[in-house]
Amino acid sequence: MLTQTNPRMPDLPYAAPAPDLRTAMPPLCYPLGEHLPQPGTVTEVAPGVFWLRMGLPFALNHINLWLLRDRLPHPTQSSVMQEGWTAVDCGIDNAATREAWQQIETQALEGLPILRVLVTHMHPDHMGLAHWLCERWQAPLWMSTSEYQSALLACSGLSNFGGDPTVAFFKAHGWNQPDELAQVKARVGYYPSMVPKIPNAYVRLMAGAQVRIGDRLWQCIGGYGHSPEHMALHNEQGQLLISGDMLLPSISTNVSVYAMEPDGNPLQHFLDSLDKMQHLSDEALILPSHGRPFQGAAARIDQLRSHHAERLDELVLACSTQALCAHEALPLIFKRALDVHQTTFAMGEAVAHLNLLWLEGRLSREQDAAGIYRFKGREPQSSAKPRGD
Ligand SMILES: [Zn+2]
Repeated sequence: MLTQTNPRMPDLPYAAPAPDLRTAMPPLCYPLGEHLPQPGTVTEVAPGVFWLRMGLPFALNHINLWLLRDRLPHPTQSSVMQEGWTAVDCGIDNAATREAWQQIETQALEGLPILRVLVTHMHPDHMGLAHWLCERWQAPLWMSTSEYQSALLACSGLSNFGGDPTVAFFKAHGWNQPDELAQVKARVGYYPSMVPKIPNAYVRLMAGAQVRIGDRLWQCIGGYGHSPEHMALHNEQGQLLISGDMLLPSISTNVSVYAMEPDGNPLQHFLDSLDKMQHLSDEALILPSHGRPFQGAAARIDQLRSHHAERLDELVLACSTQALCAHEALPLIFKRALDVHQTTFAMGEAVAHLNLLWLEGRLSREQDAAGIYRFKGREPQSSAKPRGD
């Protein structure tokens, strides 16, 4: 059972950026200032685009959701257009979030139905109440195929967040404290505790596809590295990007390797995905899932690239004198104390950085006698001398 104050609940998987980077780069612009929508209320951020916030029982204590004015053919009378809303993302399934949605229903929906539920990706804070909203409004779920199928797997206990395969994966990366790993094993119920059910069917979103929602046309931008097939939504004409978790203003998106794909390179996928948002103008309003709406996408992307480049260089330097495993590298990437739950996300992120360096050839990787992966800097190339010297 989740409560708002349970201190054992983990942070959602995000890492704070290095503060020096925030001051060294051009500042982001927050056109709505310090404003935050109050519980049960919405704030219109562009014509027909409304911002609402739901609480989360983590250190990261909120998620932003979006309501878009919509119009779709009536399901039984196709010549009649039905006015209503598309909800983008849902919040986790708990009593407080259901209550907050009921408040929104009476205070903000103007008596109109939710016509569809669009989910950017399968993480619990985005997906949790999709089943409830879809049932409540007889509305279809729209999301990408990989996200939908990953949600089904995670909901049925085949999750990347805990259980025996995750324990084995962490052990192979040097995390060996039995009491801590027992907690990791028990986290197999982490996802279903917040996403107890997945709708039986969905409408597929694909990168590059366009979705008309009310008067606006939104293009899906596929994003990788944070989740299997994240969809951000770009309305070019209105200069709006619903960025989900792929572009956040003040925390860096978690990018983790998981047990199911131990040799994956999600950090490279994430950095490549940022390319697809680099072209946005400075005026484009970014609507992120956490934090406040902001302008300055390109500046923020530069900050994120620098943040990761710095971590990668630090790891290469540290591995130049000794072979390190991911668990030993944690303090280099996370310069703060981590509890067990935070360590699970931090380990995934550490392996993501090390895997990128290994797959790029900047580090070598070997399993030691205990079966632990150790990463080491490659021997410096001897300077080439002309033959015959
Ligand atoms: Zn996420």
